[in-house]
Amino acid sequence: MRAFNMNAKAKYAILFVVLLLCFVAWRVFISALERTSAPQPSENTLYLNESAPSEMRIDDLLSSMTLEEKVGQMALVEKNSVRRMSDIPAYGLGALLSGAGAKPEDNTIAGWDTMVSDFISASRESRLGIPILYGVDAVHGHGNVPGATIFPHFIGLGATRNPVLVEKVARATAQEVAATGIRWSFSPTLDLPRDIRWGRVYEAFSDDPALTALLGRAYISGLQNNTDPLSFGTSNIFVLGTAKHFIGVGTMTWGSAVNKEYKIDQGYTPPDEQALRLEYLPPFKAAVDAGVQSIMIGLNRWGTLKLSESRYLLTTVLKEELGFDGFAVSDWYGVYEVPGNDYRSAVTAINAGIDMVMLPFDYKPFIKNVLYAVRTGEISEERIDDAVRRILRAKFALGLFDADEPLFPHGVIGSPAHRALAREAVAQSLVLLKNDEDILPISADTKHIRIAGSAADNLGMQMGAWTVEWQGVDGNWLSGGTSILEGIGARAGARVTVEYDRAGDFPARGEIAELGIAIVGEKPYAEGVGDREYPVLPPEDLDAIKKLQKTCKKVTVVIVSGRPLFVANEIGSWDAVVAAWLPGSEGSGVADVLFGDVPFTGTLSLPWPHHSAQLPITSDGTTADRTPPLFPRSFGLHY
Ligand code: BGC
Repeated sequence: MRAFNMNAKAKYAILFVVLLLCFVAWRVFISALERTSAPQPSENTLYLNESAPSEMRIDDLLSSMTLEEKVGQMALVEKNSVRRMSDIPAYGLGALLSGAGAKPEDNTIAGWDTMVSDFISASRESRLGIPILYGVDAVHGHGNVPGATIFPHFIGLGATRNPVLVEKVARATAQEVAATGIRWSFSPTLDLPRDIRWGRVYEAFSDDPALTALLGRAYISGLQNNTDPLSFGTSNIFVLGTAKHFIGVGTMTWGSAVNKEYKIDQGYTPPDEQALRLEYLPPFKAAVDAGVQSIMIGLNRWGTLKLSESRYLLTTVLKEELGFDGFAVSDWYGVYEVPGNDYRSAVTAINAGIDMVMLPFDYKPFIKNVLYAVRTGEISEERIDDAVRRILRAKFALGLFDADEPLFPHGVIGSPAHRALAREAVAQSLVLLKNDEDILPISADTKHIRIAGSAADNLGMQMGAWTVEWQGVDGNWLSGGTSILEGIGARAGARVTVEYDRAGDFPARGEIAELGIAIVGEKPYAEGVGDREYPVLPPEDLDAIKKLQKTCKKVTVVIVSGRPLFVANEIGSWDAVVAAWLPGSEGSGVADVLFGDVPFTGTLSLPWPHHSAQLPITSDGTTADRTPPLFPRSFGLHY
């Protein structure tokens, strides 16, 4: 009996193995069939012809692509989620990104270049050789790469109100990005922050739609326009810009964040269409008019809808009304925040108008789901063709099919010319908020300066987040750049005694210095991690200021922060106050203005409130409690 049972089990096992083998053989046969039935490109195929018009090249390529290849183009994958290099050609992935902080093992300029070119080479091995796009958040310079020039975060550029400067900053950033073989940046940010408690205020130029539109347009020209003699010949676009985040981002209600860790980021935007059109749409219209070819869709909600599920906003308004002919890319995991299971969310978002999905992790189930949806008719083939056409349009405009070489030498990264430009940008971005008895500029007679504060000798704080790591780094472990302390020391020269103590512990009964400079501020933060109910200076900095006041005749406070801070209780006792924002790698720009080598010309690009009861502040500057802010938008003293 027992022997009979064993035999039966063995028979079933053999049957199972045979069936399994049959199934595998059938799958191999079917996919071989699919491959052989796919149209094969010929050597002189039109889409490879550099001199043919782009739209004809796109038509030709689309007509050669299988449905699988088309859907692959719609996937944007975080580079660490690529399981095998061979998956890139096998699935025909459209794009990869380095989520902030996702670096190559060899985190050097050469290491970045090699990593990106390996990914591109892998994509070129696919049947049709469609090159992959690689994207990074070069939001204040090529911030992921150690040694890159770090420009002021956008809030500082907004204070300059200078589109010519902003275009140059974007150009320099594009050159540094291109020098690592990357041709896509997730910038500029066109959000309009209405509430300074939000952790992304500094990524925006201003809360003013007109100023944001002006600077956004300049930034896009700087990134995209192919005017440089060194840039690649056949491309119409140098580095692809991304206007983000469409739309209504910055007007979310405090406390509405769905993510429990956050308070306002990714929250709820009131469903007031008129306000959206009057205030939030103009910067995107300007971006579309400037030729931006990718637009990132916000993680916020508009009323009850996640932005990525609003067909009205994405297709009717953005694509039809504004005439946007580039591709709409969803933000990090944003499609899966659309209600429903993974299948349903992808179907809803693609039908709403998302062309490329920043998955950013699992590409295989995404591709499978979309293929199934097309086969069952839930997503039309026309929608897929439209999405892929938009993606290919950007790839052709970049000239990606026509050369793989990096466009700029590594030497442009952190070059003296770019650092000089960054220093100029810093000087123009500073806003003088208070200057009792004209203690600034620092008089040529000053012989003794004392410096204190957590941001005085702290490159990480002055660069802010999105620098090498998503959340930035606190301290001086990043090389390249000049701290504000170093900048002041170098400018003061040997004639002036410059003493520094972070905590402001100078001998109480010793000599009284003529001037104290407290360089104080916020530790780096990014996104909702920086949502703060009460953004103020840390106690250690307030103490340092008080100590300086005891050992110096006058004290200037330089605030290094990503947003206006609540300082109404303390500012009365400070002699001079400078808003330095997040100036980046070139601290000497601060010294230039403090010593009067460059005049103060910056003005606030958003109102500076007294306290939280004034929040949010509307675009015309009206505070929630209708009392005047501490400083209105456009405020700034000059000398
Ligand atoms: C941010 C985007 C950014 C993306 C890729 C998201 O979390 O909202 O602004 O471009 O990550 O790093």
